[in-house]
Amino acid sequence: MAQAPLQPARGTHDLIGAEFRRHHLVIETARRVATLYGFEEWATPIFEDTRVFARGLGDTSDVVSKEMYSFEDRGGESVTLRPENTAGVCRALVSNGLTQSNLPRKVFYAGPMFRYERPQKGRYRQFHQIGIEVLGAAEPLADAEVIACGWHIQQELGIEDGTVLEINTLGDAASRDAYRAALIAYFTAHRDALSEDSRARLEKNPLRIVDSKDPQDRALVVAAPTIHDHLTPEAAEFYAAVKRHLEAFGVPFRENPRIVRGLDYYSHTAFEFVTDRLGAQGTVMGGGRYNGLVEEMGGPPTPSVGWAAGVERLALLVEAGDLTPPAPRPVAVIPVGEKAEAVAINLLQSLREHGVVAEIAYKGNMKRRMERANKINAGAAVILGEDELAEGMAVVKNLDAGSQERVALPDLLRALAETGAVESAAQAMLNSILEEELGEDGFDDLDAPEDEGRT
Ligand code: ATP
Ligand code: MG
Repeated sequence: MAQAPLQPARGTHDLIGAEFRRHHLVIETARRVATLYGFEEWATPIFEDTRVFARGLGDTSDVVSKEMYSFEDRGGESVTLRPENTAGVCRALVSNGLTQSNLPRKVFYAGPMFRYERPQKGRYRQFHQIGIEVLGAAEPLADAEVIACGWHIQQELGIEDGTVLEINTLGDAASRDAYRAALIAYFTAHRDALSEDSRARLEKNPLRIVDSKDPQDRALVVAAPTIHDHLTPEAAEFYAAVKRHLEAFGVPFRENPRIVRGLDYYSHTAFEFVTDRLGAQGTVMGGGRYNGLVEEMGGPPTPSVGWAAGVERLALLVEAGDLTPPAPRPVAVIPVGEKAEAVAINLLQSLREHGVVAEIAYKGNMKRRMERANKINAGAAVILGEDELAEGMAVVKNLDAGSQERVALPDLLRALAETGAVESAAQAMLNSILEEELGEDGFDDLDAPEDEGRT
């Protein structure tokens, strides 16, 4: 009985071809830019003790209350596939005894996250995030720099035209207490008009209602009081300083008093980069300041700020902007006859050592191997026929133009570069080799076979 082909689990997806290249571009760009800002990369475990994410009874966020992949392992421990990485990074700071030394710590991470959600475009059950955290900095300059780094990454990706930075403050504890009371009064007066979810949040965490995506709540939320009437002077000054610094960094923003963020641990700065290009999945990067999280992991008070961004959503913006990186175009090395194979292998390795993508078909006559070269979108082919090799020559074929040229082995690299068909990195590498290393000598580490036919 034939087995029906297996599919990926609901809400998961494979990254193949152009999709993988976009994904890789997003992560590599973020890694490079974060390094420029002084961030070091950490990798924390993909599953953690459930208590790392579900802390006490206070957490009313959707992520913790509805979306976690938690299970008992065979030893009876409750573990959870991480839904986000801020908690894991804070846990790691404490577990590794890093809470007192070298603060602030600036951490970058990238990796898979897991949330039990209804899958749709830009929303998956296994998705990926990049993120940064500045741990142990209470100053508003840290908030602004963290945001500037996120902005810089989007600029380097070429997608910053498609997103808008929206910022808000959640104030300090005193501001929030006053705001909370105002929200409870307001929403209680309109209790019947609230969605069921929001009614449940009313006493536990009315701030959450402001974040509600339920259309039923929208009108009420738009008219709800904002935190700005309840900020303490200190909280107002902190917010003003963040905005001043953002201007100094040259990061454009718009204030949106309705940004409160999906997780419960934020205070002061909250922000999102939003886009109208991804339908309902409008937030690509979100973050803010969290001053209590490290303490909740058993560490000392450690004021911190950071963001996380969805790699899939950034990659969709890269795709929409026609910015998908091309696949590298290899040079196909084609030996004709058995004796030429050793030379072909030698040439392959020389090309690879020089940073040129090079491939050899494992079998087949010249025609088959040319077909294979076309299949892998080779830009050029080097044909090593025994007769030519005997004369220290090879044929370089430009597969785009269809032209070909007989060249002496030492001139191979130069001839390949001149085809112009060896793209991007390989081409740049070739050019620099030609200029800096080869000089007049050409490709001189490549010998023709020791063949008695050679005179
Ligand atoms: P949303 O409102 O879209 O559910 P969120 O507020 O739950 O987002 P965060 O917890 O702030 O998201 O995570 C930061 C980023 O991670 C989001 O802005 C988004 O780009 C991405 N993200 C979150 N959940 C998913 C998911 N299920 N699939 C793909 N990306 C996601
Ligand atoms: Mg969510």
